[in-house]
Amino acid sequence: MTGILYLVATPIGNLEDITFRAVRILREVDVIAAEDTRHTRKLLAHFEIHKPLIRYDEYTDANKVLQLLLEGKNIACVSDAGLPAISDPGANLVKVAVENNITVCPIPGANAALSALICSALDTTKFTFAGFLPKSAKNRREILIKLSTHKETLIFYEAPHRIKKIVEEMAEVFGNRKAVIARELTKIHEEFVRADLKTLAEKLEEPRGEFVIVVEGCTAEIEKPVEENFIDAYNKLISDGVDKKTAIREIAKKFNISRREIYNAVLNENVSCETKD
Ligand code: SAM
Repeated sequence: MTGILYLVATPIGNLEDITFRAVRILREVDVIAAEDTRHTRKLLAHFEIHKPLIRYDEYTDANKVLQLLLEGKNIACVSDAGLPAISDPGANLVKVAVENNITVCPIPGANAALSALICSALDTTKFTFAGFLPKSAKNRREILIKLSTHKETLIFYEAPHRIKKIVEEMAEVFGNRKAVIARELTKIHEEFVRADLKTLAEKLEEPRGEFVIVVEGCTAEIEKPVEENFIDAYNKLISDGVDKKTAIREIAKKFNISRREIYNAVLNENVSCETKD
């Protein structure tokens, strides 16, 4: 008999947001596989749960946990907050477990994206969860451009140190849509700031805490989103006769990215074009 892999939701702030079932499963399993054992230990202490803990994060080989499941051990996988496998470790473990015919069982509960969406007053019938945007400004812009034509509500996770910049970029690429910043969900300083993207970008100074950004989908009334990427914009300037140095300076300013990034991207473009034949 193989064990069962339980994916157990844990609170995203307020410790009361754990289900009776989650507590029972955490008490009953043989082992708890946690993203950060120190963090989870505090949660378990609060609920007086005493179980062996092993680390399971994005660097852990899923086969280590699989081995325990194959030996018949029941395992609960938890992340630091919310649902495992949603912008958190767990997805690969599920894949490996399913490939090995292990039963995978969800123990649902708190999730930041859906908690923000349901309080957003934006369309909840259809939405895209976009998770974290890439670190590189170029890749980020490309993704925002792709998302700019999506009609459904968009949900993003974001870290506090770059939220202002990201909201500014969204305003530029998406046009000035309605959006909501959901901050510190379920915690003492829970806050929803609802405005258009430009106003939000102006309001955000150095916000603290954790954030979800929910953005209205593309509608006919919203001004046309930006369709070009910065390489196309650069190439257009060059074909209009603008010299390279000036073009790089203008594009850096327009797209709010470094000259080095444009230079490297253009260089890559040229290299890949030259090697095509
Ligand atoms: N697995 C989690 C879930 O189900 O929501 C998400 C984990 S992800 C690593 C962490 C991100 O989720 C944060 O950067 C933030 O964008 C969002 N988040 C988590 N807790 C939050 C909270 N209490 N309030 C607002 N956003 C939160």
